Amino acid sequence: MPELPEVETLRLGLEKYVVGHKIELVEVKVPKLFQGKPQEVMGAKVIGVRRMGKGLIIDLDNGNSMAIHVKLTGQLIYRDEKTKDEPLSKEKVGTLPSSATHVIFTLDKGAMLYYNDRRRFGWIKVLPTSEVGELPYFKGMGPEPFKDLTLEKFQNVIKNSNTVIKPLIMDQKKIGGIGNIYANDALFLSKIDPRRKAKTLSDEEIEKLYKAVHTVMEKGIKYGGASELNFVNVLGQEGGYQNHTLIYGRQGDKCENCGGTVKKIFLGGRGTYFCENCQK
Ligand SMILES: [Zn+2]
Repeated sequence: MPELPEVETLRLGLEKYVVGHKIELVEVKVPKLFQGKPQEVMGAKVIGVRRMGKGLIIDLDNGNSMAIHVKLTGQLIYRDEKTKDEPLSKEKVGTLPSSATHVIFTLDKGAMLYYNDRRRFGWIKVLPTSEVGELPYFKGMGPEPFKDLTLEKFQNVIKNSNTVIKPLIMDQKKIGGIGNIYANDALFLSKIDPRRKAKTLSDEEIEKLYKAVHTVMEKGIKYGGASELNFVNVLGQEGGYQNHTLIYGRQGDKCENCGGTVKKIFLGGRGTYFCENCQK
């Protein structure tokens, strides 16, 4: 599932291309993916794009917003005269529109915004901008890296928990934005065994992990996200972080620190990669 760096990559693209456009028409092919009335966004101009954890918020000038969660396989792809020849990922997008295109926004100046979602788990919800923070998904979200997750808040989350460290940092109610890829890499970078009980971490380890979370996510944003499953940016192109992971997806490879073999186990149902020599 896209995590903070992937959704931030989408936000940056939407901010660059979609802000300033007027929405002229909305065509909804799969009703459950677009919750609201097309008339509530038609005729309105996009004035901003925000991100909260793994969620996106497109603000309109008519007092409404579209809250979006792309979940596993959602894509938001922009096309206009200038970008129409940009190559789309053949494997992850194919053609536009495709059989996975379920909502189509016709924008002014000949531009289009396509919402594709092969697995159909995502959602677009139309609601008054003033009520966005009240959506259960956003309301229950913990502080997030690069925003309100201070070292002190991070320490509190970890010290007051009875659970294992890796699933804890992926719990969106405790910390917003971290998913499986970056949790694996941050734990490797901070040399912490993902199976450790959170409250056994020392102050020094907590600080290392806090820094590592930011380091790996900055790297993720730099590479335009990781294109696992169906993630592409707003031009329909893949990110590059999957080729630069520190340990995620590298079972059987040599640990780049010690030369030992990277192991894979399942922890809380999620693929967990670690080096027994380096992570204690
Ligand atoms: Zn190692």
